[in-house]
Amino acid sequence: GAKYLTKATNLAKHIISAVVQEGDTVIDATMGNGNDTLYLRKMVGNTGKVIAFDIQEKAIENTKKLLQSFHMADAVELIHDGHENMDLYVFQEVSAVMFNLGYLPKGDHHIVTKPDTTIIAIEKALSLLKRNGIITIAVYHGHEEGMIEKDQVLAYATTLDQNQFHVLRLDFINQKNNPPFLLVIEKK
Ligand code: SAM
Repeated sequence: GAKYLTKATNLAKHIISAVVQEGDTVIDATMGNGNDTLYLRKMVGNTGKVIAFDIQEKAIENTKKLLQSFHMADAVELIHDGHENMDLYVFQEVSAVMFNLGYLPKGDHHIVTKPDTTIIAIEKALSLLKRNGIITIAVYHGHEEGMIEKDQVLAYATTLDQNQFHVLRLDFINQKNNPPFLLVIEKK
């Protein structure tokens, strides 16, 4: 298995693997190069479904190639639209939603997730989530826009009703230079 304590994204995968089961429907809200999409596809198997979003054509291409190389392009819907519109594409409850904020690695660093649309997407994800389902959000705040996004996402997450959600922040507290951290939201 992945060494899950090395970075926020691995920690997210580890937590996801404890919750997601074969046959589930799940969402990758930030497809990028498709690593999380592939991971989710492995978790849900042929009988499940992964619905993945990105606003960049490049992300769709890269993810499609990655999935095909693993013969896992079936049971995955790659959607070229923003995650803030996920309710237009997802019509059933999901057990997990993964967000990996910031810019596409090895891509255009000017195309980043934005606080307003990220928060709309988290809200929609929470309403699609089934009981005991989880959302993971890897928060990158090393870049200037990421700093602002971090503050707004945290401010939003802090307001979530504790009677409905468990909200955790997992930090690598001995790392320098604004290491990414993970937010995890579980629906009770
Ligand atoms: N999980 C990805 C992987 O495994 O490679 C990395 C994701 S990358 C950090 C963030 C991605 O979010 C970028 O590919 C970017 O294009 C995408 N993005 C930005 N705004 C978005 C939006 N409104 N909806 C969906 N994706 C968006």
